[in-house]
Amino acid sequence: MDILDFTRSVEVIDAHIHMQRSVAHTQELYHYFLYRGAARSGPANPPVIGTLDQVQAMMERTGVRHANVLMFTWSGMYYRDGQFTLPDDPVDRARADAELRQRIARRICDYNEWSLQTALQNRNLSCFVGIDPVVMGERAMLAEIEDKIRRGAKGVKSQFTDCGILANDRRLWPLYDYLQAHEIPLQMVCAEWAPGLNRPSHCSEALADFPKLRLIFSHIGHGHHFGQGTDAEFLELAQKYPYVCGDLSLRLPEVIDGQIAPDALVAHLRRIGTDRVFYGSNFSLNEMLRPGPAPSEGDFQMSETLKGLAALATLPLTEDERADIAGRNFRRWVGLGR
Ligand SMILES: [Zn+2]
Repeated sequence: MDILDFTRSVEVIDAHIHMQRSVAHTQELYHYFLYRGAARSGPANPPVIGTLDQVQAMMERTGVRHANVLMFTWSGMYYRDGQFTLPDDPVDRARADAELRQRIARRICDYNEWSLQTALQNRNLSCFVGIDPVVMGERAMLAEIEDKIRRGAKGVKSQFTDCGILANDRRLWPLYDYLQAHEIPLQMVCAEWAPGLNRPSHCSEALADFPKLRLIFSHIGHGHHFGQGTDAEFLELAQKYPYVCGDLSLRLPEVIDGQIAPDALVAHLRRIGTDRVFYGSNFSLNEMLRPGPAPSEGDFQMSETLKGLAALATLPLTEDERADIAGRNFRRWVGLGR
């Protein structure tokens, strides 16, 4: 199956990508946040940089028409590491802690600003902005969301595990309240593959209090065993709450790799509701997480992204369901008009 033939026939929108500002930003992501590289795990250097030029090259080579950048800052790591440097004296310590939080909050806003400006300058990109309720505090967090959404951001990206909290932490209730009231989607990272990660079940209390919250779950739950664990938890929430959606990043390649049977995935998607599932790749993190042979000089890896598109093109869906998942659902739920 030629991917370009497929993407010419159906509009494909990638609901879930990550883009970095520079090589240095990606090196930080790879070595510091993902803890990879020589003497850790994986190749010494990432197989993809994921800067704007590579994102545009990926889209051009695949025919993906639009991509949504989920911007986030690993601010929880900054804050935890920074706390080791605080002085003993309690007054000095409190002052230095406040300064540290302020500096990190500024870092979050600067990355968000860069991502918004990049999206505004590239008509085939949009963005969700990152927040950290612990470092920013409620007022600054809500002000940041208000500012960026007003100027064109399409939603909010969470990284609560990095912040050291779970989705049932009451410090998040003002955030949920604001997002529900303004119909702003929140990308919710959940997975079963690392200890301490937020699970879909941690969102059930929030959804009980905010049943119209537009939560988009990354990787439709990402259970260890397809359909079980966090996959089943996500399905339960999706069946109970009509505004709960999910994206297929990291899951579609599992079909090509033989870990998920195509029929079983289609049956699962129909139980969720094929009107609430989005195509997503997780480019460029997906490639860093599954590195293959080193790309040739000047090129970058996009094999996982291609696998995902091949699965999207060939799953035994009706053509209507396929077009919904490929792009129409994203347009309906997130909107792209400016
Ligand atoms: Zn991601």
